[in-house]
Amino acid sequence: MQIQCPGCGMKTGFLLTQSTYDGPFRCGKCKGLFNIRIANRKLKACEPLSEEEFEKGQQVELSDAEEV
Ligand SMILES: [Zn+2]
Repeated sequence: MQIQCPGCGMKTGFLLTQSTYDGPFRCGKCKGLFNIRIANRKLKACEPLSEEEFEKGQQVELSDAEEV
C-alpha cells in the first residue's frame, strides 16, 4: 500500500506484511517521522514522531519513495 506523507504529500510505498500495523514510518522525501496506525490496509492515524521516539521503535522495511 502507499502512505501519503502529511508533511509534504509524497506517497511512499509501504511494505505491509499484515493488514494491520502500528508503528513508525519515515517519509522518503522530507524525512519526516510519523507514528502510523493501519487497520484493514487503511491509514487510520498518523502522528508526528520525534527522532528519539523513532529510534526506540521497531525498524521497518520501506521501499524508498518509489512511484508505483
Ligand atoms: Zn514527507
